[in-house]
Amino acid sequence: MAVNIEKYNGIRKELGRVTLVAVSKTKPNEDIQALYELGQRDFGENYVQELVDKQAVLPKDIRWHFIGHLQSNKVKYIAPFVHLIHGVDSFKLLQEIHKQAAKHDRIIDCLLQVHIAQEETKFGMDENELEEALAGASGLPHVRVCGLMGMASFTDDQAKVRNEFRLLKTLFDKIGEWPVVNGEWTQLSMGMSGDYALAIEEGSTMVRIGSLLFGARTYPDKGI
Ligand SMILES: *Cc1c(COP(=O)(O)O)cnc(C)c1O
Repeated sequence: MAVNIEKYNGIRKELGRVTLVAVSKTKPNEDIQALYELGQRDFGENYVQELVDKQAVLPKDIRWHFIGHLQSNKVKYIAPFVHLIHGVDSFKLLQEIHKQAAKHDRIIDCLLQVHIAQEETKFGMDENELEEALAGASGLPHVRVCGLMGMASFTDDQAKVRNEFRLLKTLFDKIGEWPVVNGEWTQLSMGMSGDYALAIEEGSTMVRIGSLLFGARTYPDKGI
């Protein structure tokens, strides 16, 4: 068993009201089940096929978060059950989520991904794209855009990471005042194993933690 139960309990206490998404990508069903039995219900995955396979066999009250880069042609596979899609990075993707959600008579919650890190490889929108997406989303009743998601630079420079989280929180608060936001604007998904404490200090409402709970992943993240 690779799950670190002590760590899990410690993190849960530390988080208080912040939602913990246990990132189980590449990890076996037994590990997910072990945390489930301790009361964990929010799990995050970033490969569509892997998520679909796990959802089919694991308990039905798990809230599955899709946290990876989602391709439009794969939305249909997760639309029947996904709880929250974190990484929406285009209006086109939002339209496709709306279309697939409508087929299942669902409203799917989404977060828009913001490019906060200075690294070139990370996906995300800038402020103009966010405004366009939010304006367009008001015509898509089967999606609910309820906040932002971001990833800080992968660096030991704590000041830099903090600054990126702070910028994201500032943007989150600013957008909350925009008239294009109608309804829920409540979730700020930021913070991973290496930087979740900083993220919480800077106002995160939802952290995505994988390796601290499940151990290091043995194969690389092709999803990012
Ligand atoms: C893998 C992943 C995480 C979790 O990473 P850890 O460093 O293992 O906690 C969080 N967010 C996203 C988008 C991921 O792909």
